Amino acid sequence: MKSGLKTQHFASDNYAGICPEAWDYMTQANSGHAPAYGDDDWTAMAADRIRELFAADCEVFFVFNGTAGNALALASMCQSYHAVICHRLAHIETDECGAPAFFSGGVQLITGSGPEGKLTPEMITDLAGRRSDLHFSKPQVVSLTQATEAGTLYSLPEVRMLCETARQHGLKVHMDGARFANAIAALGCKPHDISVACGVDVLCFGGTKNGTGVGDAIIFFNTGLAKDFEYRCKQAGQLSSKMRFLAAPWVGMLENDRWLKNGGHANHCAMLLEARLRAIAGVRILFPRQANSVYVHMDERAFQALAGLGWRFYIFPEAGGARFMCSWDTEIEQVERFADDIADILSSISTDRVATDE
Ligand SMILES: *Cc1c(COP(=O)(O)O)cnc(C)c1O
Repeated sequence: MKSGLKTQHFASDNYAGICPEAWDYMTQANSGHAPAYGDDDWTAMAADRIRELFAADCEVFFVFNGTAGNALALASMCQSYHAVICHRLAHIETDECGAPAFFSGGVQLITGSGPEGKLTPEMITDLAGRRSDLHFSKPQVVSLTQATEAGTLYSLPEVRMLCETARQHGLKVHMDGARFANAIAALGCKPHDISVACGVDVLCFGGTKNGTGVGDAIIFFNTGLAKDFEYRCKQAGQLSSKMRFLAAPWVGMLENDRWLKNGGHANHCAMLLEARLRAIAGVRILFPRQANSVYVHMDERAFQALAGLGWRFYIFPEAGGARFMCSWDTEIEQVERFADDIADILSSISTDRVATDE
């Protein structure tokens, strides 16, 4: 990586900082005293804006991060003897250190492995019907990730169909929307239409990866499930006493659709990166690039060389390669530089190979 430039990486969208709009509202909220534990005007305002965005009379809570959001939402949807159906790549399965089981007191995850990181209706029917005896946890919830961990999207008809299938089996629907903004920006549909209108019961709407510093929103469209939820948050250490600083940045994100523009920018950068990578011999794109990440297979040595140049990215063995992810602040110049470095590395590896073959 050339020196003298601001460091940007392609590891995750949570490598990025806080966007100016979120920061500005943090500053605005930092004036005088305000009631603690969410009884302040900022928290009320942020929740109202979310209700407006979703055109729904939902219950909204702010927690520190997405793991807590998912785990506490699932705990509120389940008894300890219940099971949650999710994809085998789902964050709740692979990256939450057992938090859903821990906070629910025993919920089990039942995983399916549909193509492109997505569950299908057939898979839900299959997983929901495998066991009905009382010796196995009872399926209660389907958890969908939007955008998925493979960087793909569930289309509106797909979400509708999955929710319909869940309903037929008496299952509730949780949506992990850590990258919901990227999904909406790419799909161009209304947040209302692809969540509450389809029958999603609870949505965890990520703020951090979209440009806030801390704080994800848990949105209960099925408001009955939100009963006593504040106690659950408090017990889990997720009730911020200075809640206004989690909530105010959301007001900034929702104003003038900043959340959507940030998601769209990240998607656009990933699209440019994908286009550059597709033109490089030795790069294989692993999943359809639909949101802000590009999954790539290439020679092991190329990943090492890329890391050696100082670039940070994640290798996902389960996905069969590396993930390159763009964020709200990714600079197009950095995308070009990154792609240039990959092209240089792969061309020198293939030259080596020709030399060795001779
Ligand atoms: C990042 C992420 C989360 C939340 O992770 P935290 O690090 O706990 O904020 C949840 N789901 C998905 C799909 C994610 O990518």
